[in-house]
Amino acid sequence: MVGYRRSRVMVDCGLDWLEAVWRIRPRPHAIVLTHAHPDHAWGLRNGAPCPVYAPKQTWDRLTRFAIEDKRLLPLRRPYEVDGIVFEAFPVEHSILAPAVGYRITAGHSRIFYVPDVVYIRDRSAALKAVSLFIGDGASIHRPLVRRRGHKLIGHAPVSAQLTWGRIARIKRAIITHCGSEIVSAHARAAAAVRALGEQRGLDAAIAFDGMEVVI
Ligand SMILES: [Zn+2]
Ligand SMILES: [Zn+2]
Repeated sequence: MVGYRRSRVMVDCGLDWLEAVWRIRPRPHAIVLTHAHPDHAWGLRNGAPCPVYAPKQTWDRLTRFAIEDKRLLPLRRPYEVDGIVFEAFPVEHSILAPAVGYRITAGHSRIFYVPDVVYIRDRSAALKAVSLFIGDGASIHRPLVRRRGHKLIGHAPVSAQLTWGRIARIKRAIITHCGSEIVSAHARAAAAVRALGEQRGLDAAIAFDGMEVVI
């Protein structure tokens, strides 16, 4: 959930939110989707309590969802959603469910949120002047990447994402959407992520449920 002044925009709504999305308090004013995978969008299968924004490539894969207020979010154009500006950057991750990461700007603060990613197309534009990178926790060191023709699918490791952060001179990273490597050995993973961040000049940490960050 991204909040700014009176705005509240939720990003993604996985299947485990199918019932809970109706009970979120305070309510989100809008929901923005990164891609059509079950763990990012299928919580909206029975509808949504607010308008939902997604790129066409995502709506094309959610045609049966009973969402009343579907809104189109352009790719690569800053677009205001409830007073917060979202720019969708296409990322490699899946062929069946093409994904984006969001460059999110509110007032003078800017973050980049990409929960599933092999790599970000036009990464330097995506990460320029970003103060917080929120990235994919599927794996810490080992790339979980497969090749399909010219395309790559899967997940970049945290180590690679933090290197992107160093190159873009980002000072802080939070790793979310964690896979078994992180979840099964949390203390060790937390130390590894911190160390990888230190080596690259970033304050890097693993997200937890209920975490709140003020920028
Ligand atoms: Zn995915
Ligand atoms: Zn995912």
